[in-house]
Amino acid sequence: MRKCIIVASVRQITNPPNPYNQYSAEYVGEPPPTKLEVFEETATRKMITKAFTSDWEGGWRYTVNCYRGCVHGCTYCFARQYHEYLGYGAGTDFETKIVVKTNAPQILRQELKKTRDKMPHLDFSFATDPYIPLEASYELTRKCLEVCVDFRVPVAVITKSPLVTRDIDLLKKLEKVSVFFSLPFLTKERSNPFEPYTPVPEARFRAMCEVADAGIAVGIGIAPVIPGYNESDIPGLLERAKECGAKRAFMSMLHLDTDSIEAYFVQKMNERLSPTAVSKIINTMKRERGGTLRHRTYKERMTGKTEQWEVTQKLFDFHARRLGFKQHEVPAEAEKAAEPMQQRLF
Ligand code: SF4
Repeated sequence: MRKCIIVASVRQITNPPNPYNQYSAEYVGEPPPTKLEVFEETATRKMITKAFTSDWEGGWRYTVNCYRGCVHGCTYCFARQYHEYLGYGAGTDFETKIVVKTNAPQILRQELKKTRDKMPHLDFSFATDPYIPLEASYELTRKCLEVCVDFRVPVAVITKSPLVTRDIDLLKKLEKVSVFFSLPFLTKERSNPFEPYTPVPEARFRAMCEVADAGIAVGIGIAPVIPGYNESDIPGLLERAKECGAKRAFMSMLHLDTDSIEAYFVQKMNERLSPTAVSKIINTMKRERGGTLRHRTYKERMTGKTEQWEVTQKLFDFHARRLGFKQHEVPAEAEKAAEPMQQRLF
């Protein structure tokens, strides 16, 4: 059963056409303002999803997502496409129609009772940020972490939110845990055009320090690197992360996986950046990707590896080594599944 809670009016509806729902229209005429709508869902059958990612510890991962959609609204987010499967749009719908799996902790407990022996590791992230603002009241990520403590499952969290510091007490009880902060831009001004509703970079760095000070392994994810935009932020981001106690780091290039994601990304870039900055990004991407903004081949799409990737990866590797970031050990199962589609991770 779903319950819809309409919370607030925020901005105008903008959704690229949904390829799975081509014959419906959300409105006639001028786009109306959006409202933050929360759909509570209690019919969840499973909470653990096996997913392939080239970005985050490249390979097959077991992921847990207590929400669908993400109010952080990063314009580059690859998870936007999953909202189209629900019949929603990949644009503002993804940011304002949030599905809350209210029975997530109970379902996770039932699943782990059957699968704990086969579960090497769980990642809290993938289709949403586990610490969106709604988590402050729903506490579903927190309750799922409690289940992981009971079953002694190793956990990794990736987030853009300082709300993760609320759960430091719990994270400390986990057998093995790491918290990665997704931080692709050094300043609020540089982040804002692409991450308009996320906590500012400085708030994420402060949270990183707090988690590291509590003795929990922390890292930085410089993801995505947008060609022609934030390569120059890489050294400064790694330096700040090091100062905050991060021991690991990874980077990945921008993927625009679907027509909808590409359309929304370009539209928002045109609204929020100068024409010169937009041209620089588009020209750099097209030069490296054979005249398009997308990766040309399946392998490129899965790995993000293009000529641009190599140059940027060398820059990242150089500074990661200089600052002493440790080489990350990819779990054997993920390594086997992803080979040769793996990215380097420090
Ligand atoms: S925080 Fe993560 S899941 Fe949320 S919109 Fe940004 S990239 Fe997507």
